[in-house]
Amino acid sequence: MYNTLLPIIDKETVARLHALIGRAEKIVITCHVSPDGDAIGSSMGLCQVLKAMGKQATVITPDMPPRQLQFFPNIKSIVVASCHPHTARRLTAEADLIFCLDFNDLRRVDKFADALKQATADVVLIDHHLDPTVKATVTISHPEISSTSALVYRVLHDLTLTDFLSPLGATAIYTGMMTDTGNFSYNSLDPSLYLIVADLVSRGVDKDAVYREVFNTSSLSRVRIQGYAASRKLELFPEAGTALITLSRRELDEFEYEKGDTETLVNLPLSIPGIVCSVFMRQDEDDYVKISTRSKGDFPVNKVCERYFGGGGHLNAAGGEWNGTLDEAVARFLELVKGGYFPWGNKE
Ligand code: 5GP
Ligand code: MN
Repeated sequence: MYNTLLPIIDKETVARLHALIGRAEKIVITCHVSPDGDAIGSSMGLCQVLKAMGKQATVITPDMPPRQLQFFPNIKSIVVASCHPHTARRLTAEADLIFCLDFNDLRRVDKFADALKQATADVVLIDHHLDPTVKATVTISHPEISSTSALVYRVLHDLTLTDFLSPLGATAIYTGMMTDTGNFSYNSLDPSLYLIVADLVSRGVDKDAVYREVFNTSSLSRVRIQGYAASRKLELFPEAGTALITLSRRELDEFEYEKGDTETLVNLPLSIPGIVCSVFMRQDEDDYVKISTRSKGDFPVNKVCERYFGGGGHLNAAGGEWNGTLDEAVARFLELVKGGYFPWGNKE
């Protein structure tokens, strides 16, 4: 019988966090650029708890949260640094405590990095990406945990603060746990996840509604783009176990692409037997391509992204970018396929 959530942080860290939170009045919580369910969920969940404790807490995201997350009733309370740089800068300068959630490197917050670098507040990093480089007073880094949201819950649990979670905060945490595990279909074998879910559901999370909002709600443009990409733009390289989907700027315009419309598209080819690696390239600007990669098994797409596409991420889900044309990015990918890099080649 598995029925106890074990501590994730030691007693000394518990005491330091209690002291930092106890004396803080103004708290900023921030996460990575293009925030996903985990970034928003962990930030909003923690923010709700801190507010319930009487703190002045604000979530600042480097840029806009995606449309699938706009269903959060209090999503408008987020300060989007790219839209309100002065407010974001002022709040960060005035803060006496800053939480950095779901990122390991200041490059992941884009232009908001400058405000963070200048801040004088204590910084607490809570993250599940490998090898954090963010300078922090307290670093809580657990790459073995499937979501930062689950990690935030575990930290709140160790601090005996989970009773501050309202249905809204619990829903935020649940959303991050759900999105970073594909609705508990990968990285989801840790039994403690289900103790957390049980507690969150008991605190008022309608998990079925969260699933519907996040995974089962699409705009017309999203449905059309995904259908088009799957039927016309999917290329398979069976001998390499690899798939590629590309969408050019022209195609995105034609389908009236909106941010979020291509989310999860990269997962689709992995459902084909024999395909263990999927690459999606989206030409956001004429000379800038955003790259998303996914894999099954032990092929490390984070290494591919680090080495060839200036990015990184997790073993099975990573991303990067190409500062050049889409044709160039595709040519680079084809070189790697021809060179036997995918999927089990030269991956030391
Ligand atoms: P997605 O493909 O959903 O955009 O990103 C999947 C994961 O890859 C993210 O959770 C993040 O860890 C990582 N990632 C995506 N884009 C980048 C990037 O440009 N740089 C780095 N270092 N990691 C990225
Ligand atoms: Mn995450």
